[in-house]
Amino acid sequence: MSIDALELWALDQDAADPLASLREAFEIPVGADGRQWAYFCGNSLGLQPRAARDAVLAELDQWRTVAVEGHFRGKLPWMDYHAFVRDDLALVTGARPVEVVAMNSLTANLHLLMASFYRPTRQRPAILIEAGAFPSDRHAVESQVRFHGFDPATDLIELEADEPAGTISDAAIAEAIARHGERLALVLMPGVQYRTGQVFDIAAITAQAHAAGAIAGFDLAHAFGNLDLRLHDDGPDFAVWCHYKYGNAGPGAVGGAFVHERHADTDRPRLAGWWGHDPATRFLMGPDFVPTRGADGWQLSNPPVLALAPLRASLALFRQAGMDRLRAKSLALTGWLAQRIGEDLGDVLDIVTPLVPHRRGAQLSLRVRAGRDAGRALFEHLMAQGVIGDWREPDVIRIAPAPLYNRYTDALRFLDAVAAWRDQTAR
Ligand SMILES: *Cc1c(COP(=O)(O)O)cnc(C)c1O
Repeated sequence: MSIDALELWALDQDAADPLASLREAFEIPVGADGRQWAYFCGNSLGLQPRAARDAVLAELDQWRTVAVEGHFRGKLPWMDYHAFVRDDLALVTGARPVEVVAMNSLTANLHLLMASFYRPTRQRPAILIEAGAFPSDRHAVESQVRFHGFDPATDLIELEADEPAGTISDAAIAEAIARHGERLALVLMPGVQYRTGQVFDIAAITAQAHAAGAIAGFDLAHAFGNLDLRLHDDGPDFAVWCHYKYGNAGPGAVGGAFVHERHADTDRPRLAGWWGHDPATRFLMGPDFVPTRGADGWQLSNPPVLALAPLRASLALFRQAGMDRLRAKSLALTGWLAQRIGEDLGDVLDIVTPLVPHRRGAQLSLRVRAGRDAGRALFEHLMAQGVIGDWREPDVIRIAPAPLYNRYTDALRFLDAVAAWRDQTAR
């Protein structure tokens, strides 16, 4: 297609997009040239929902005007603030309301849930993760292995990538779980790998882990708000995530946790706090811990209201969109971008992310063929054009069209900017 035909096509797609109006619900940063950014960093920090500011200001006003009474008064009494996001969290993650809670941060939640679900024994001490896991996850599991007196050299098993692009095949995962099965206490995998954008099969990995007698846990940092998750049906024992990436709840937003309903009344050990205590008797202030049923029972502290307010505002947009419609738009938009890159920019960029729909989310990880220095130059060029992605050493640019606010015309700006850089450097 000619450039003009492509632009007309992209404009048509945006005009026909049933979710197009949701873009108006976001603050889109504007560059020095007065143009809105083409923002592809929603996998790192999602854009601000317009309603977030009012949601925070409302709670500041409540604090200013009624102080401690804010715990009981108004439309959203602070005592129950964590509960006001529960139904929407369940919707976004395909969970039952009893299975999800917003609390703490991702890594803290990972430790809390491992305290209950990683119970190593001499016969079964090991954790299986992917090699190249996000550093915080690796630090967390390694320190847990040590904390229990075991040795990461033998009891932290890291599964290497076996596919040419640096991704891991389903067969390699199944084989590793089967081979180490008798020694595995926990299999901990991502929903979406942060560097490659690969999607992992939560249902299959869970079934394999359970067949081996191990617990199945997932880090959904890059999956929450990106994939159409089905956590209850897929059946993992626990999952954790953050809300500042595709969740659009702001920098350092409160994290999330899932505990499958089969553990709702568990007597597993846990690291407890007063907000996990049954609310019916919490304020009798007795010494003995009686856990709330379900994920709420892992809470430690009273909810951070000012930090939860933007999450409430953001989740309302996910409810409005519907995860099935969001995922459908994401598959089409990222699929189109990948196809154009393959056909028009294959001399500049290699796509690392698997392209079959069930193995990718919104993000494309793009290896710059000319290497690191040229890659940095291309990245700087894109930023200067208001095309915002991020850089992962040594030679990868990540571009994540977020279906809540990105358009086909944004994707076209990326394509045009890369082509212009190629033509300029060739001259
Ligand atoms: C973003 C991300 C984190 C960040 O952890 P925090 O505790 O929120 O700082 C951890 N793990 C993965 C896989 C991530 O993508």
